[in-house]
Amino acid sequence: MKFSEILDKIDVVLEGEAHLDELARERQDPFKILISTILSARTRDANTREATQTLFAKHNTPERISSANVEQLEKLIYKSGFYKVKAARIKEVSQVLLEKYNGKVPNNFNELMSLPGVGAKTANCVLVYAYKIPAIPVDTHVHRISNRIGWVNTKNPGKTEDALRDLIPRDQWIRLNRIFVKFGQEICLPNNPKHEICPIEDICPKDFSMELALKKKKEKKNTKSVK
Ligand code: SF4
Repeated sequence: MKFSEILDKIDVVLEGEAHLDELARERQDPFKILISTILSARTRDANTREATQTLFAKHNTPERISSANVEQLEKLIYKSGFYKVKAARIKEVSQVLLEKYNGKVPNNFNELMSLPGVGAKTANCVLVYAYKIPAIPVDTHVHRISNRIGWVNTKNPGKTEDALRDLIPRDQWIRLNRIFVKFGQEICLPNNPKHEICPIEDICPKDFSMELALKKKKEKKNTKSVK
């Protein structure tokens, strides 16, 4: 079965939209998508959505965020978790955008990666969701699902991105993150995946080796630390 057909099969059973997809559909500006992606680190979509809305109701431009008091930013984005680190980061990113890019978010990978605290996943999210440029943002869902369904056999998201870029036709890159994020939230859950309602159950090898290896590694580390 072609990659596009597998993605089609998953896509038709998904309900609702993930947060970044919602912003992209509403044609929100690249700055909001960049900031929202930074806020989304290690938190749920609902928290990112709320923090983004609260922040942008008050400060919606690089000028406003860069000149805002950091304690106030912390309060506004509190819901997203790790709010101290994230407040400092969005302030710093806003300052660099003003100083180097005239307040505009760059639309190429290398310039995005040069922004403070912006890694490959965030840069690729901005390319895909803000500019519709083909890229493969690999978050925890994309990494996990790509391994489970046997598309890749990788130990970390960076390697997964490289492997997927070699494997998946370019015309499918833009939709892959959107579909896998929602699929990972609704069906191919991190714990207790719902195989019984999965639209690709018949072709899935259910390869959990990457997750089991990670679990073993963590257990070993924990055992060492209590010795
Ligand atoms: S069969 Fe299970 S492991 Fe495979 S994609 Fe579906 S939910 Fe995930």
